[in-house]
Amino acid sequence: MKVFKLIILTFGLMGLVTNFVSATDQTANANFDFSVTPIAENVYSIISPSYGLPSPENKGWNSNSHFVVTDKGVLVFDTGSSELIAKGIRSAIKSVTNKPVRWVVNSHSHADHWFGNAEFANTGAEIIASARAVTIMKEDGPSTVGFFSRVTKGVTGSTRLVYPTLLLAQREKRNLGGVDVEFIFSNDAHSPGDILMWLPKQKIIFGGDVLNSDWMPIITGHGNVPNWIDTLYTVAKLNPAIVLSGHGKATTGKSVIRDADLLAAVWKLVKKGYEGGKKQDEILSQVSDKLAPKYKSLYKDFDSAIKHQVKLIHKQQQ
Ligand SMILES: [Zn+2]
Repeated sequence: MKVFKLIILTFGLMGLVTNFVSATDQTANANFDFSVTPIAENVYSIISPSYGLPSPENKGWNSNSHFVVTDKGVLVFDTGSSELIAKGIRSAIKSVTNKPVRWVVNSHSHADHWFGNAEFANTGAEIIASARAVTIMKEDGPSTVGFFSRVTKGVTGSTRLVYPTLLLAQREKRNLGGVDVEFIFSNDAHSPGDILMWLPKQKIIFGGDVLNSDWMPIITGHGNVPNWIDTLYTVAKLNPAIVLSGHGKATTGKSVIRDADLLAAVWKLVKKGYEGGKKQDEILSQVSDKLAPKYKSLYKDFDSAIKHQVKLIHKQQQ
């Protein structure tokens, strides 16, 4: 059962692409080069150049964090895949503001988005996530610490797991430090309990792994594709000016519509093939032939990821 869960988690994290940055320094020190990208007034991103699983080469750093500087302190969205990485994130935040980190949001239960929590809990930040995601964190977290340590050959250091304490159960609005935010549920699209964060005034959406930049949506064994499609069209209706994702650079609402249309097309074609009694390989070649002309140039990993998508969607028809 544990192995099965780890496989699900692994697929969730890697999305089949291993586009790692080249390694020059494989020592276990926290000498990360985190640069801060200004996104809008008081909103910043720390973008990982690496996509795929944590590795010795990327020092375990494979996912983005974002932060909002409010009047009363800083709100951090996702904390990276280890406590050591979160120390680098904290230093990067300090290069922008001396205000304390008051709130941390974990977009979902995959380890690369919350394993840095301990660094911020140390200084009293309130950690926010959905109740559903926290259940999965507690089930999968302990075994994933060892898994990350193995795949990075120990470079990620030791990570203490700190679970969120402010648990959300449904879509809700809050005011954090004078900034209006809205937490939106994806209805388990990429993984159970995913939340997105919307800043209505600046029209910025923080999507975790529900929203994507350069890579195809990462379908997992414990997500829900029809709900994902609905969520993407719902987010598109908000007309976001800026889309911040869990991996890759900032993008726009166009990416949200691109992903919604892609997933809807893949789902429809696989369902039709399955109901028509076609084999998975046959369905894959039909889906690729039909969708590659439009989508291959829009993603970095169309050819590899489409196989993964068809396989999982096919499984979900059974
Ligand atoms: Zn994920």
